Amino acid sequence: MRLQAYYGKPGTRQWENENLVYITLPYPMRLAWEPDVTINRIRVHKKEANKFRNALLSLWNAARMEVKKRVGFKSLSSAEYDVATLQMLQAHDLDRWGGSYAYRTATGSSNLSMHAYGLAMDIDPLGNPWKAKKWSMPDWAVQAICSQGFVWGGTWRNKDCMHYEIKQ
Ligand SMILES: [Zn+2]
Repeated sequence: MRLQAYYGKPGTRQWENENLVYITLPYPMRLAWEPDVTINRIRVHKKEANKFRNALLSLWNAARMEVKKRVGFKSLSSAEYDVATLQMLQAHDLDRWGGSYAYRTATGSSNLSMHAYGLAMDIDPLGNPWKAKKWSMPDWAVQAICSQGFVWGGTWRNKDCMHYEIKQ
């Protein structure tokens, strides 16, 4: 299988140790299912770690742009923009972390999920449940993440609006 030729065959501790790395998040997130727990890093495939870093930074910058559109471009100090940017992300629940690496099959399928390779992430699963007719993922967030080499599950026939994966 093509994926496994490049990313290796997941499912063992050895594969995890050799292929997964932790990257630091640009802003703190809460576990969606355990909101008292704040996380500052996530585990992803080492070959795509930079894309995850860039996508989340792009999301942060897009939220900052949303702030600037509302309050003006010179009205806040840099530190104040940082605070307002985090508040913007939180207001859209984009700090609800649904997970990256997880060894499992894709929902509704017997194939391995891209999560099993450390090539996918879920953001705000509560506001964007699988196959939902309504979702809360803002367009600017989708654009920010997809501009860095990700595909959004919201474009699929079975919509998965929480889900982003590395474009192959
Ligand atoms: Zn997912």
